[in-house]
Amino acid sequence: MSPLFDLTGRTALVTGSSRGIGNALARALADAGATVVLNGVNAERLKAAEAAMAADFASGRIHSCAFDVTSDAEVADAVAWVEDNVGPLEILVNNAGIQHRVAMLDLDVKDWERVISTDLTSAFLVGRAAARFMVPRGRGKIINICSVQTDLARPTIAPYIAAKGGLRNLTRAMTAEWAAAGLQINALAPGYIHTEMTQNLVDDEQFNSWILGRTPAHRWGTPEDLAGPAVWLASSGSDFVNGQTIFVDGGMTVVV
Ligand code: NAP
Repeated sequence: MSPLFDLTGRTALVTGSSRGIGNALARALADAGATVVLNGVNAERLKAAEAAMAADFASGRIHSCAFDVTSDAEVADAVAWVEDNVGPLEILVNNAGIQHRVAMLDLDVKDWERVISTDLTSAFLVGRAAARFMVPRGRGKIINICSVQTDLARPTIAPYIAAKGGLRNLTRAMTAEWAAAGLQINALAPGYIHTEMTQNLVDDEQFNSWILGRTPAHRWGTPEDLAGPAVWLASSGSDFVNGQTIFVDGGMTVVV
């Protein structure tokens, strides 16, 4: 492996990595040499994910920490736990996220707030907790997981669109405040990726054929498609890439 992309000896925390895209990103970082801390709220699912991944890597490389990314207190305790028990946190992937589909006229404010809090405020909370350790050390990589909905709207997912658009600008705000200290903060914006979160869309024949027609690559993405870009943004290979949102979407956002 080129030393540019070698993550050996670096500690990474990936939020929402008990399954789906976060789990694939955590595996990609571990494959590149990182020591990885998995996260989720469901402790049982998280332990199962940790055991599954630990079987493929050397002892001591895979850890887990259950906490809710929307809780300021839990986030602060969790990041301190990683620092004390695993190693200095050098890579943070803000991936945890939820979806809620309902027409805006029928949208309850509690559901609006739940999505904004899980998909946007969480990145501020975990990013701030991590940066409080990274900034004094003068190094760190933060990768915020956006979406094509960072740029493109669709009916019935207003809070998700607002959160993912906000996350792109939060990436810029973090860059404005922390880049001078040696941190790189960027975002990855996946296109439509086949995961548990989107299984109902894959099963919907009409939606599925719309996706295939709308995507120049003519397929759904896979979590593995995000591995290369994530390792690059986590590595020394991206040391002068700051505040960018990289779309990994088979070309969806460049065509109409
Ligand atoms: P997923 O399969 O539903 O997995 C979500 C993960 O987030 C789970 O590990 C879940 O943990 C965790 N999580 C949810 N709420 C949490 C909280 N409050 N605190 C801590 N962890 C929490 O989702 P996914 O499809 O992989 O999506 C992951 C990210 O990619 C999201 O930010 C999503 O917006 C983004 N994305 C997805 C797609 C796509 O096509 N799937 C496309 C673009 C962007 P538990 O197991 O404990 O519930």
